[in-house]
Amino acid sequence: MDNNREHISRVLISAEDIREKIQETGAMISEMYAGKPLLIVCVLTGSFIFTADLCRALSIPCEIDFMSVKSYSGDRSTGKVGIVLDLKKDISSYHVIIVEDIVDTGLTMKCVSSMLRERNPLSLSVVTLLDKPECRKTDFTPDVSLFRIPNVFVVGYGMDCDEQFRELPYVAEYRP
Ligand code: 5GP
Repeated sequence: MDNNREHISRVLISAEDIREKIQETGAMISEMYAGKPLLIVCVLTGSFIFTADLCRALSIPCEIDFMSVKSYSGDRSTGKVGIVLDLKKDISSYHVIIVEDIVDTGLTMKCVSSMLRERNPLSLSVVTLLDKPECRKTDFTPDVSLFRIPNVFVVGYGMDCDEQFRELPYVAEYRP
């Protein structure tokens, strides 16, 4: 796998559009969670840039924790995910927002949100940068989705193809 820009077929969402939408979302979250203990959960690795920008668009205090998950045995149809890196915090005294890069089949977020709900947070919601509703295989719906995209494979703004292209400031369609 190389980082050749020939693999970028088109920019789907510009850096400017991402910035604007994140400002709006940050303002909305700040209003909703004002005065409440807020924990932002970044699901590594794809959402690290989104999380960094979203938390800086908040006008209220928050804490940030990280987790990493993996589908069991590469079989995503089971919808079972294992925790590779767990949160450091006990989340029972926080309102939790899970920050995800992209909801595709919905299996990962359905499983992660139900695992975290079992830890009894004060509330739990999922904010995703991108949503591919055409690809859904579960009844999972994110609480907030910044952009809906068609069924194409995207890279950039934290998202990769074999660990490449995460550094791009925009979301682009990947061409093999
Ligand atoms: P789901 O369980 O909803 O099918 O998958 C969610 C995960 O699949 C995302 O967190 C992301 O890691 C990966 N994924 C799904 N679609 C894409 C895509 O178009 N591009 C990239 N880079 N990752 C994707």
